[in-house]
Amino acid sequence: MNTLDPANWSSLRALGHKMLDDMVDHLASIREQPVWRPMPEAVRQGFVAPLPLRGTDVEALYARFTADIQPYVTGNLHPRFMGWVHGGGNPVSMLAELLAGAMNANCGGRNHVGIAVERQVIAWAAEMLGMPAETSGVLLTGSSMANFCAVLCAKQKALGEAGHESGLNGAKLTAYASAGVHRCVTGALDMAGFGRAALRKIPLDAAFRMDMDKLREAIAADKAAGFTPFFIAATAGSVDAGAFDDLNAAADIAAEHGAWFHVDGAFGALAALSPAWRHLTSGLGRADSIAFDFHKWAQVTYSCGCLLVRDPAVQNAAFAQATNYLAAAPRGLAGGFPWPCDLGPDLSRGFSALKVWMTLSAYGTEGLASLVENSCTLAQRLAAQVQASDRLTLLAPVTLNIVCFGIEDKANQEILDLVADLQEEGLFAPSTTTIEGRTVIRCAIVNHRTQAGDIDALVAEILRRI
Ligand SMILES: *Cc1c(COP(=O)(O)O)cnc(C)c1O
Repeated sequence: MNTLDPANWSSLRALGHKMLDDMVDHLASIREQPVWRPMPEAVRQGFVAPLPLRGTDVEALYARFTADIQPYVTGNLHPRFMGWVHGGGNPVSMLAELLAGAMNANCGGRNHVGIAVERQVIAWAAEMLGMPAETSGVLLTGSSMANFCAVLCAKQKALGEAGHESGLNGAKLTAYASAGVHRCVTGALDMAGFGRAALRKIPLDAAFRMDMDKLREAIAADKAAGFTPFFIAATAGSVDAGAFDDLNAAADIAAEHGAWFHVDGAFGALAALSPAWRHLTSGLGRADSIAFDFHKWAQVTYSCGCLLVRDPAVQNAAFAQATNYLAAAPRGLAGGFPWPCDLGPDLSRGFSALKVWMTLSAYGTEGLASLVENSCTLAQRLAAQVQASDRLTLLAPVTLNIVCFGIEDKANQEILDLVADLQEEGLFAPSTTTIEGRTVIRCAIVNHRTQAGDIDALVAEILRRI
């Protein structure tokens, strides 16, 4: 074999057309399909096969895909998928993935249109979230990486060049976030070498927000003990309950102590698009950095997260390194700096910017805002039905699009079983969490396909079974 291209393109073309037709049919009929199907053991075993030495016809591989892969994926395309916080994707983004695959552009850097598209998307993101026009940023796999990179930017600000050469070198730096912070922020402190204990988890108030008095107390105690607070991460839309920390208060406290003010707005930052919900994000535009996802509420296909950084010089200094083989050139393909590889940890990177650019362009921010509003309206509908039932109890305030409720007189295990039954029967996919020791059903309404009838059917089905 001396090339991977076919001698004759016509059969590949025909197969490609069939794949596209099948995938459009798949999207168009998603509501008629089960939300999720447990994978049979034989299918699982099919993916512990020996390394292929010889090739297989791509027609046969596509038959394999149709039989063994397509039916057993996560289910987050489905309108009745309400678990975790998963985006539903969108057909334009799906097509953009095909185009990006065809271009196979390496968007780590160099002087080509992929970099221009990513800069456009970053500028749009900054505008969407109320950050200044000069804001820099980079697309990453998700908010986990974006939060991690934000910690590295804060480390850059705190330690400068010395932090690159010698690491933390005994620096007593402390970080702060609410007790409801996503685990990836804890992981970010760990991966950045500070250790998990450097993240002080501040208790929640009654509305599941970071208690700002307790934050002040923790900072005062740490300072008295010789620590330097370097990073305050507020949460805009907590993963458990969708709660918003008081971003202005957190920004004030960060400014007072010279700490980096970061916002984890993985899904909740997108509330800034909606005039009806924007008030929750007041103060977001004061952030030194924001982590958020395009693959959740913005419905871009997985994966795509984003880090925005107010001071481009800090982001560049946090990641850039001078090397001969990546030297900046004034012209030619090696021109066009700054390159994304100097704004994050990845050198080779795909063309995720294309699917974001196409999604934002196709639907507009008004279109996305109406999806955000629809999710929130549905969450309120669900909360109202929970409150109207004497068997169900709302167990966290509904700030945005997440509803957590318990079932009266049901043991935690019975609730876990009920949710697993609904998932395994392919009917609904809520998830669960624990609030004050109680197992609760957690519905995160994120999918743009979810309608009022889906909410009503979920409540009716749960009530029927208890
Ligand atoms: C989903 C989520 C994350 C992690 O983002 P990924 O895109 O899954 O890496 C972080 N914080 C919050 C609040 C989230 O909801």
